[in-house]
Amino acid sequence: MDFNRSFLDGMVGVGDMILLHTLSEDSLLENLKERFQHDEIYTYIGNVVISVNPYKQLSIYTPEKVEEYRNCNLYQLKPHIYAVADDAYQSLRDRDRDQCILITGESGAGKTEASKLVMSYVAAVCGKGAEVNQVKEQLLQSNPVLEAFGNAKTIRNDNSSRFGKYMDIEFDFKGDPVGGVISNYLLEKSRVVKHVKGERSFHIFYQLLAGGGAELLGQLKLTPDCAKYVYLNKNASSLTGMNDAENFKTVKEAMKIIGFSDSEVVAILKIVAVVLKLGNIEIKGQYQANGMASCYIPDVKDLKEISSLIGMDASTLETAFSVRTVEAKQERVETTLNAAQGAYARDALAKNMYDRLFSWLVQRINESIKVSEFQGKKVMGVLDIYGFEILEENSFEQFIINYCNEKLQQIFIQMTLKEEQEEYAREGIEWTRIDFFDNEIICKLIEDVTYDTHGFLDKNNDLLYRDLSQAMWKAKHELLKSLFPEGDPKNTSLKRPPTVSFQFKGSVSTLMKNLYAKNPNYIRCLKPNGTKLSSVFDDSLVRTQVRYLGLLENVRVRRAGYAYRQEYKSFLERYKMLSKKTWPKFSGDPRDGVRAMLSDPEVSIASEELAYGRTKLFIRTPSTLFDLEEKRRRKL
Ligand code: ADP
Ligand code: MG
Repeated sequence: MDFNRSFLDGMVGVGDMILLHTLSEDSLLENLKERFQHDEIYTYIGNVVISVNPYKQLSIYTPEKVEEYRNCNLYQLKPHIYAVADDAYQSLRDRDRDQCILITGESGAGKTEASKLVMSYVAAVCGKGAEVNQVKEQLLQSNPVLEAFGNAKTIRNDNSSRFGKYMDIEFDFKGDPVGGVISNYLLEKSRVVKHVKGERSFHIFYQLLAGGGAELLGQLKLTPDCAKYVYLNKNASSLTGMNDAENFKTVKEAMKIIGFSDSEVVAILKIVAVVLKLGNIEIKGQYQANGMASCYIPDVKDLKEISSLIGMDASTLETAFSVRTVEAKQERVETTLNAAQGAYARDALAKNMYDRLFSWLVQRINESIKVSEFQGKKVMGVLDIYGFEILEENSFEQFIINYCNEKLQQIFIQMTLKEEQEEYAREGIEWTRIDFFDNEIICKLIEDVTYDTHGFLDKNNDLLYRDLSQAMWKAKHELLKSLFPEGDPKNTSLKRPPTVSFQFKGSVSTLMKNLYAKNPNYIRCLKPNGTKLSSVFDDSLVRTQVRYLGLLENVRVRRAGYAYRQEYKSFLERYKMLSKKTWPKFSGDPRDGVRAMLSDPEVSIASEELAYGRTKLFIRTPSTLFDLEEKRRRKL
């Protein structure tokens, strides 16, 4: 009899990998595949949920489903991301433990969708009332805004996040949301000036052009035609399943709800327009009388329009693209830029402007959603960091992203072990040492990958000539000016800003410390195929992901000690019919009930198979559970 197929009535495969009859990479994959083919996209490893991107809309996210999972026991219903969200929320509200939801997986695996499902679930089950609802709305509406400015179509994902995001949602003692804080990590700003064929730049550019309308576009000196813009590769903008014009409305509405004023929105869009127009400034080379190479702008139309948009003298901007001032020991030396250097300066300005605008947006959203200091705040952090990417050309960005993923994998390993240890300690059960896990797999993977070091150092140093900052600081456009504080001549420090990788390392380590202090909940996302199809399960693609996520090791850790555990009450509820001592009803402590039932000679479970924790029963091997299940079936 194949018990695992029937465990928990009507289930396809096993809902929890811990209950696999024979554990191997193949059986784990087979289980995922079978479930995926039946639209069962969620599977547990204990309290970790694996999610396989269905690439189609499933009817499992309805308000009725939310009701089902609300206050449920993780094992009573089919595996679902809602169950994990509910578990985290309940533990935060009732046990006062700060939570973090760690969502990992490669690009296109479903991380961002998962983070939104968690947020919307929590929003649906927590407190109501006008004030709370406003907070919820603002928190939820941050998503379309940040996605418009920080996401783009890539080959792997039509809505790929090109920045890392960590959001703390803060709750009061009742469990009602009171606000939040968003941290952003390393936007892939090179996309502003360059992207490969088949991909796009950030959504906002296309949204603005498609949905801005004649009046706004006129004010911003833009035309609706994407083909007019060099930075958009002059290529077609349309994207199946994505309506840029419609999305622009959503973004504007979201900004309004968050609390952006009309004039702020225009100021932001002006900067977006300026970035786009910078790409159209053509820079040509020439030789001066003294033989020095220099550059000039043959057609100043765009330059003039940019200058008028940001309130600046056109010649100031023109000079900034053609001359560079080098300051050394109190001495200022002006050198002319050649055409390549001029173009570099222009692109650097566009990238930095957009990147700084993005960080400013995050800060601005934070201003709206931040909570004034108060006591007894509880926190749920949601981490949606970019996935591991192995591209044909692995650039600096990929290196950084992969570094971050390695750190996350480390944290996963440490926390999984720590969590098991803590659960045993909490329940008063002796811990047996396990040395299954190591990070070798992912470390190796990072070494498999070869990086294109061309431009590596440049990107790391992220050079923005001082002349450009100083020019920007002269703008009348207040927001733009504030993005370039180092352009203030009073700000005389000649110190270079720290390199990108140094900054990133710092922020990753702060993030990790923050995560360590919280109770982790894991969502491990898998991508079923590389072609975004709803019905294809590509074994070898999934196998690779299963490997570097260390899923098999994860199951092993959970099975090493006691594979299965359940709270006494629900365990008794399910199996009480096995013994006359507990059937039809046992009045008394459920723990005593479970003991009485399991020690009944009719049930006869070997005592070394069991451990009685404070609140839960622990069962050593899955087959014991299957025995119990079979006994139960015979009685039914
Ligand atoms: P990631 O953030 O991991 O790169 P996304 O969350 O953006 O991936 O998912 C990529 C795409 O896959 C989404 O735009 C959506 O079309 C689809 N998708 C992901 N998760 C789900 C889901 N649970 N249900 C339906 N479609 C999904
Ligand atoms: Mg994403």
